[in-house]
Amino acid sequence: MEDILNKCPLCGSNLEYHSLYQFSKVYKILKSGKLSSRPKRDDECPMECGFISCMNPDCEFCTNCDLEVENDGKYNIYQEGEVYKINEKST
Ligand SMILES: [Zn+2]
Repeated sequence: MEDILNKCPLCGSNLEYHSLYQFSKVYKILKSGKLSSRPKRDDECPMECGFISCMNPDCEFCTNCDLEVENDGKYNIYQEGEVYKINEKST
């Protein structure tokens, strides 16, 4: 059964999408041996990676960065355009 993924399939709570970014700030080392007060470069490298987790702290629903539900082969989560969808595999 295909459904829009707008709530946790286990407990019905809201979900969050965690988008992972990697930041690196590059500082110049001055003659005094200290770092310059301002970063020389401010690199923002988005790692194309993210996962979905349930906002209920008592719920274990969580996907990995491939949107696979860990410890559970029951759900198939995917993105269609901007919409996340969930497909419950019938056994
Ligand atoms: Zn949940």
